[in-house]
Amino acid sequence: MDLIAHVNRKLDTLASHSLTRRRRVADSACAPRQVVDGRELLAFCSNDYLGLAAHPQVVEALREGASLYGAGSGASHLVSGHSRAHALLEERLAAWIAPHLEQARALYLCTGYMANLAVLTALGADAEAQIFSEALNHASLIDGARLARAGVTVYPHGDVDALAAQLEASQAATKIVVTDSVFSMDGNLAPLPALLALCERHGAWLVVDDAHGFGVLGAQGRGALEHFGLRSPNLVYIGTLGKAAGVGGAFVAAHASVIELMVQRARPYIYTTAAPPALAHALLASLDIIGGPEGARRRAHLAALVDSLRAALRFQRWQLAPSATAIQPVIIGSNDDALRAAAALQEQGLWVPAIRPPTVAPGTARLRVTLSAAHGIDEVARLARALNELEKTAQ
Ligand SMILES: *Cc1c(COP(=O)(O)O)cnc(C)c1O
Repeated sequence: MDLIAHVNRKLDTLASHSLTRRRRVADSACAPRQVVDGRELLAFCSNDYLGLAAHPQVVEALREGASLYGAGSGASHLVSGHSRAHALLEERLAAWIAPHLEQARALYLCTGYMANLAVLTALGADAEAQIFSEALNHASLIDGARLARAGVTVYPHGDVDALAAQLEASQAATKIVVTDSVFSMDGNLAPLPALLALCERHGAWLVVDDAHGFGVLGAQGRGALEHFGLRSPNLVYIGTLGKAAGVGGAFVAAHASVIELMVQRARPYIYTTAAPPALAHALLASLDIIGGPEGARRRAHLAALVDSLRAALRFQRWQLAPSATAIQPVIIGSNDDALRAAAALQEQGLWVPAIRPPTVAPGTARLRVTLSAAHGIDEVARLARALNELEKTAQ
């Protein structure tokens, strides 16, 4: 029983710091109106930014994919699990990102978490390599850097000068700078043009995790590289496909040689069963929407929702993060206060998650509001009223 007692002590420590997390059970599809633990809530928590997770065309394509290819892939990609659907999706994604890379090729992986592990372990395989990692990077990039043999240096958030000094001082044979494009808990953008210029000057890779930009940023939804108008052979791009694309999985796009190295060497790609081909088939439908007129309409509506929320919120003590994206965090401070605010919203039928350390820095617990093109303008107004009222009455 000592073993269990030890585990329970860890759980007690979490609880004493208000860090216990609890899963809610959703009984309906991902959508603004969601039935959760038996009750309908208006949800502002998903990363389904374009409202494609339950889009009829995407759902129908998933069904069609299952009838064409079955339920599972049966094996890893290098054994026998690489289907026509995966191959078609990779071709589409390569063409999608081609304006921004040299000799672009794309590789589809089961999740963004695994894509990040795969990129960093493949590029940073030797001890002579050095990874320069942005301080607010997503956990999967931190874990990828840990798993790579390369050394790791963290640079302060958004600090191009500090990174420049680190690159200057480094003797590493291979230099890899890695950053989120849109910071997932803050919603702000990395200074990608300055970072890319720096990487080109130092012969470094720039690995961009565009989990929250793919499908949303750029006139055609191609993501952060389109938004900033970047093109470079130094870029390695990661787009995730479970957020704006509404389905699941992720892809890495880079020069064909980088992708070939990953096929040969990246363990998170090689040693796992290929994602069900039906997902890849559904993603083709999702890309049709994102790249077409409906995608443009959805992005425009989302941008209008972001503007209307920001215009409506008036806080005295809480802080609305300076974000122009669908991620609109309200920074509250203590874990308890953030939890109380989330609970009060839930009482009113509004579902907004409280985000606490270690996901964010201690003392910056927040409500992470995310908007989706599936929200109506009146729904966003309702949220704004509730937040304004709550801030006035909260202790
Ligand atoms: C969600 C996320 C990931 C992980 O992607 P999954 O497909 O959900 O595994 C990676 N990076 C960032 C910045 C993310 O927000």
